[in-house]
Amino acid sequence: MMEMTGLDNMYGDAKHAINQLKKIKCTWTYQGEDFDYWETDCGHDFCLMEGGSPTKFEMNFCPFCGKPIGEAWRKWDDKT
Ligand SMILES: [Zn+2]
Repeated sequence: MMEMTGLDNMYGDAKHAINQLKKIKCTWTYQGEDFDYWETDCGHDFCLMEGGSPTKFEMNFCPFCGKPIGEAWRKWDDKT
């Protein structure tokens, strides 16, 4: 006989895991031209060549934690 509760839990866990995977990203935040480095979600600082961004250098994954990189630019760094 099947234990429905066990299966439900397993299904719930798998669903949860998939949702977590979808969410997982390492966001790199540019710290502005004065500092010219990127701060990663996983607690590292990374310098790229001037004007560079992770996607510009085709860096799809964080070298520190292996997650896909999400880019973020500081709002105050916007040029109008
Ligand atoms: Zn990372």
